[in-house]
Amino acid sequence: MKKNCILIVEDEQKLARMLEDFLRLQGYETVGAESGQKALQEFYKNMSGIDLILLDIMLPDIDGYEVLREIRRISDVPVIMVTARSSVEDQMNGFEKGADDYITKPYTLQLVKLHIEAVLKRAGKLKSTMEFGYITVDLEGQKVYWKDTYIETTRKEFELLIYFIEHNGIVLARNTILDAVWGYDYVGDIRTVDTLVKQLRKKLTEECTYIRSVYGVGYLFGETENEG
Ligand code: CA
Repeated sequence: MKKNCILIVEDEQKLARMLEDFLRLQGYETVGAESGQKALQEFYKNMSGIDLILLDIMLPDIDGYEVLREIRRISDVPVIMVTARSSVEDQMNGFEKGADDYITKPYTLQLVKLHIEAVLKRAGKLKSTMEFGYITVDLEGQKVYWKDTYIETTRKEFELLIYFIEHNGIVLARNTILDAVWGYDYVGDIRTVDTLVKQLRKKLTEECTYIRSVYGVGYLFGETENEG
């Protein structure tokens, strides 16, 4: 099962980055756009893949209302407007143009999360669990279960497991895993990956044989034949 994908339209780079990191940790996939035009481009490029748009109103080129109007011509994708303005008039303006919800800056990340969940739920789009074989992942609660047993994981182990499940059946090089789970700007070496995989394996116990080492390359996540 794919994760929910959120298009984050935000021109303040630091804030955009923070939102992106936070939402990824919450189990979402994210796409970023730093201007109105870019937002439309990203949306047209992947209309069926984007589940929700977090749309800042004050943007350097066309404003959020304009972006929303363009999008509403062809799509009813859930949109949450984000703004520093807080007047009732502005909020009315957003709702009239078809926004599903409204968040006023400054906000806490937790609040953003709650709004996103509520809007996705209302739209019937919230994907909150992911399953693979005997593994069930509760994305909302960040919990992992083997059969029905709860497995306590660290944040990184959790992210690694999700990455494995999403890329099951594909041989993954250690470097690829490192970039995906730690980010491109992480300074570390591939042994970090081995250590984390070892930890995750231990927690899933010997019963779970989904994670296999591929000599000289990296790892392959998938079901083995003898498990049916
Ligand atoms: Ca802005």
